[in-house]
Amino acid sequence: MIYTADAVYNGVGLPLTGAGVLVSSANTIVAFGKLEALKTQFPDVPMEHLGMAILPAPVNAHTHLDLSRVPFKAMPYYRWIPDHIVANRALRGLEGARIGLDWLRASDIGAFGDIVNSAGVMEFLLGESDLPGVAHWEIFKPNPLDAQIVHDETVQHLRDWRKLERQVKVGLSLHAPFSVSSQLLKSLSTVARLEGLPLQIHVAEHPSELEMFRYGTGPLAESLLSAGLPPLEATIGRKPDPDLTPVKYLAELGVLEAKPTLIHMVNVTEEDVRIVAQFGCSVITCPRSNRNLECGVFPWALYAKYGVEVGLGTDSVASGETLNIRDEVGAALEVHPALGLPTVLRWAVRGGYKALGLKTPIMARGDDFSKLTVWK
Ligand SMILES: [Zn+2]
Repeated sequence: MIYTADAVYNGVGLPLTGAGVLVSSANTIVAFGKLEALKTQFPDVPMEHLGMAILPAPVNAHTHLDLSRVPFKAMPYYRWIPDHIVANRALRGLEGARIGLDWLRASDIGAFGDIVNSAGVMEFLLGESDLPGVAHWEIFKPNPLDAQIVHDETVQHLRDWRKLERQVKVGLSLHAPFSVSSQLLKSLSTVARLEGLPLQIHVAEHPSELEMFRYGTGPLAESLLSAGLPPLEATIGRKPDPDLTPVKYLAELGVLEAKPTLIHMVNVTEEDVRIVAQFGCSVITCPRSNRNLECGVFPWALYAKYGVEVGLGTDSVASGETLNIRDEVGAALEVHPALGLPTVLRWAVRGGYKALGLKTPIMARGDDFSKLTVWK
């Protein structure tokens, strides 16, 4: 049988349209490629169209599993954190992570990248997840006075947890450029670089983040101050500057040398994208979360222009609605009408594995066809 789909992906380069997979009666892959070539070579083999895509198991590259019991709510990002996430913090934790991991398992993916806020969730993921992935230990420490003690504690935690690695690897997440002091951003990104730890940072998510770095004003600056965080100048160790962006700040601090994976990256300049490409960082986009938190539209064409690898994530259910990466693929196509199915499938597969530092599974002759994912 030759199975076809709107796009067929073997895990290398871009997915193909007008392509198929020739499968033996024992369900092993005999050949793969453009339909015309397959039909010429195997004229008598029947064809069946399976639907949207045939692909190696995709990746949900950015989740917050511990928020899985927090209901979905759409509101501006700078209000969503204090009014929804902080307000519902009693719902956050291990029980949510268990529910979230079950949803991920049911969604037919090959790997996931999670952000972890408690030792209980970290130990659960390391000890019990049969799904490969990276659990990024999150640091949210804006006060520079905490830097040394948090650094030492974090290094110790990471060392202990790495001994427990099985299917899930230990990574690090420095929450955002405005919520981790410059001292800690520097020292912990150096640890990540030297130890080869996967590193995720939320960057340039909402327009108010860029405004805060440039002018020190705006709704995010006000929201952080009213939550009792130190003023931005104390956290970043410099004054806001009209030429400054969150990406330039991270580059100047040396953080990008650790090749962090940068999450969201919606409100960026062309120079930011060029910098990120130079450092070889991956970027992860979460289209539904960005839409629901009024963050703006991810400038995917700019990333394509500079050859930046893009992965896809759902973010938490509290902003992204579900943890199903196929739903995110559908939303990406809605939000970006000119994007095209092949590019978004690459985001969901190769972009995701690369962002997590994992090997992309490749469809090869002799493989079992049933191990591939089919999206009808
Ligand atoms: Zn996130």
